[in-house]
Amino acid sequence: MRERRLSPRKRGSSRDQNMAPKKLGERAEAIRRILNPIYPRVKPQLLYRNPFELLVATILSAQCTDQQVNRVTPVLFKRMRRPQDFVATPVAEIERLIRPTGFYRNKARNIKACCEALIEHHSGRVPGKLEELVQLPGVGRKTANVVLGAAFGTPGIVVDTHVARIANRLGFTRHRDPKKIEFDLMRLIPRNEWSDFSLRLIFFGREICTARKPKCPVCPIEHLCPYRSKTPRMDS
Ligand code: SF4
Repeated sequence: MRERRLSPRKRGSSRDQNMAPKKLGERAEAIRRILNPIYPRVKPQLLYRNPFELLVATILSAQCTDQQVNRVTPVLFKRMRRPQDFVATPVAEIERLIRPTGFYRNKARNIKACCEALIEHHSGRVPGKLEELVQLPGVGRKTANVVLGAAFGTPGIVVDTHVARIANRLGFTRHRDPKKIEFDLMRLIPRNEWSDFSLRLIFFGREICTARKPKCPVCPIEHLCPYRSKTPRMDS
């Protein structure tokens, strides 16, 4: 067997490494059993104090790193704490405050429209249902599932670029459409793990299964990955 350069903590158990499950569900379960202890306590990296701040921070995180959003939101939320504050603020001022997150004109318009809808339809509160969240301007299923999982404890599969890529590499889906990927993963992963599993894939995608040059030689689920078996092995 080839030598892996992974620390013992990150290795799967020998039992896991020896198994070769044929069925998709068995493979998904084996992968969960390996990733769970590697990323035991997962939560969004965004800074927030309540569901509203998480909603705004998640809208800002589109096409932007969580770290960059976290540099912007403390100042933003000091000025504007409630939807009413955003509605009362000129859009140019919101743009100025969120500019470092990129796409700031669209984001400012969406956040302001979202706050107006929160006031008009939800008494200024963030609703706790997916079907209500996705009706808000600037809120798609990804943002809604982040908010549901972290702020309301309602499990939801979050499909970002990492989750979409890894789900395809692992053969969990053949789709590119995030909604179809979400539904494929929902069928494969137990409901109570939807939020945590997608967050684990996000961390795993940042550290190991990166978009370019995935670190397959040190990957703890390499033996369970069909993508790996199709790629040339330069390390052996
Ligand atoms: S073996 Fe490579 S492609 Fe497969 S999950 Fe691991 S890092 Fe990703």
